[in-house]
Formats: sequence, structure tokens, C-alpha cells
Amino acid sequence: RAKAAGKSRYEIFHPAMREAAQARVALENELRRAVMHQEFRVYYQPIIDISSGVLVGFEALVRWEHPTRGILPPAAFLDVAEEAGLNDAIGWQVLEQVCRQLAEWRRTLPQAMALSVSVNLSARQFMLPDLYVRIVQLLEQYRLPPSALKLELTESALMEYSRDAAAVLMRLREYGIQIAIDDFGVGYSSLSYLVQLPIDQIKIDRNFIVQLEQAQHSQAIVSAIVNLARSLNLEVVAEGLETTGQIERMRAVGCQYGQGYLIGYPLPADDATQVLINRTTFHPPA
Ligand code: C2E
Ligand code: MG
Ligand code: MG
Ligand code: MG
Repeated sequence: RAKAAGKSRYEIFHPAMREAAQARVALENELRRAVMHQEFRVYYQPIIDISSGVLVGFEALVRWEHPTRGILPPAAFLDVAEEAGLNDAIGWQVLEQVCRQLAEWRRTLPQAMALSVSVNLSARQFMLPDLYVRIVQLLEQYRLPPSALKLELTESALMEYSRDAAAVLMRLREYGIQIAIDDFGVGYSSLSYLVQLPIDQIKIDRNFIVQLEQAQHSQAIVSAIVNLARSLNLEVVAEGLETTGQIERMRAVGCQYGQGYLIGYPLPADDATQVLINRTTFHPPA
């Protein structure tokens, strides 16, 4: 998709597009500077055990602390960064920040010892030849057990490299790093892949959660995904929980973990630290 977009950019270069193209070049240049000046910050969104409300981990979500435009979400820059070849650099800055933060939490807060942080990997990052070695190096440098880190990959990232994907995942998992399939259900949704791939967790995409209270078929789909996951011994996380009704329904179908704005927004590191210090319980068990 990125390739196609890049191509059409040069084939159809109408004057009307000049401005957009210029803005894009400016953004690329700014991104290059941002990588050099390390302007990317990791935000941490709580992931809880739905039945107890207890925090089990965070998802690491990158933000760009832009010097004049404020805090920018990934949608504002990740695609451009990918095309500019900057995603690897950003990805390593994210992983490094997460490892440093985890080490600090574990050094200062006993309640952080069981915590894991889930980091999103792009398809490109996933296939970097030194991915495994560098992740292991990072964990060793910060004296972290592999269980402290989870890696999130989308189905499409896995399908794109289906031949090598299983081998890469196998190595990471043998080392003890858990693997999650992100946005499950929106991509290829090949169930046979789910069975074949060495993974630990699936994250049900927010689109299904949003429709839970309106569309009957969404409930059926979600329930089927949870049952399938359980029979494969996979953890299930519901993404994008925004209402108590959604949480109740996910609990009812046996989904163990959840995250979403109702539970907690992605938080800057200091706020996430407060959550840990206060041992926040996120929603009262029924
Ligand atoms: P994702 O991995 O599926 O992350 C979940 C997204 O849903 C996050 O958006 C999060 O803020 C948002 N979200 C969480 N709960 C709710 C909710 O209740 N309602 C709604 N409407 N949204 C909710 P965010 O932070 O903007 O990230 C968007 C995507 O960017 C992520 O989707 C992920 O694919 C990508 N991304 C984020 N950080 C990184 C990163 O460090 N590396 C890479 N490669 N991709 C990243
Ligand atoms: Mg994710
Ligand atoms: Mg997701
Ligand atoms: Mg998503």
C-alpha cells in the first residue's frame, strides 16, 4: 500500500498536489530532526484483568512531542515516517524507552515485577535481520526478564512475511518474549494461520467492540474468537473498551483482559508511574 501511494505521487503530479507534496517533504525533514533530537515519547495505556480490575500491564503507544504542534498521535506521522525509512529508528527509540522505564519501575516498585509492557512492531521492523539480537541486547542491558516484554504484530505484518514469520516468532518466544496478534479480526483473519503461528495472545480489534451493543453478529463473532483463543490456550485482550456494557459483555463471553478509554487513556510515563504507586484498581468487579 505504501509503495502504491508513493508511486502515484510521482505519476499524477497536478499543481493542486504541489502544496500537499511540499508539506510532506517538510514533514519528512521535521521527522528526521525529531529522530535525531529524540522527540518521541512513549505513552502507556493500562491493560487490566477484566474480572478483578487489576492492572496486568501497559501497551506502549508512541507520541511525537512536537516543539510547536504539541503531542502528535501515530496517525499524524507513522505512515510518512515509514515511507521516509525512519520507522526503524523510531521503533528502536520506543523499545529503548520502554526497557529503561521498565527497569526503573522494577527497581523502585515491587508491584512492577509482574508487569509486562506490550510494544507495537511494524511489519518492516519485524523483518529486520538484527531484530532478535538487538531486543535480547536491550533486555540484557536493562536486566529485564523476557517476560516483561510483549511484542504486538498485526495479522497483515505476519502474512506479508508468512514464510519467515514463524521462524522469527519462534526464536523470540524460545527466549521468552510473548507475542500478540494486534487488531485481530480485521485483516486476513486466516484461522489456519492462527493455529500455526507461535503466538501467546490475540487482541480483538476495537471495531468488534464498538458494535457489541448494536449488532448481534458482533457478539457472535467476539464470542467465537474468545472460544477459539481459549481452546488454543491463547490469552485474549479486548481493545477499545469505552462503556460498562462492553466490559460486561466481554466478561460474559469469557474474555480475560481489556484496555480502553473507560479503563484508562494512554498516559505519559509519570502518570503511569502514579497508577503503579497507587495500585489503582480500574473497575469494580461485579
Ligand atoms: P493499536 O496498536 O491497535 O493501538 C490501540 C489504539 O487505540 C491506540 O491509538 C489507542 O490510543 C487507541 N485506543 C485505546 N483505547 C481506545 C478506546 O477506548 N477508544 C478509541 N477510540 N481508541 C482507543 P494510537 O495511540 O493513536 O495508536 C494508533 C496505532 O498506531 C496503534 O494501534 C499502532 O498500530 C500504531 N502504533 C502506536 N505506537 C506504535 C509504535 O511504537 N510502533 C509502531 N510500529 N506502531 C505504533
Ligand atoms: Mg497495539
Ligand atoms: Mg490494536
Ligand atoms: Mg488498532
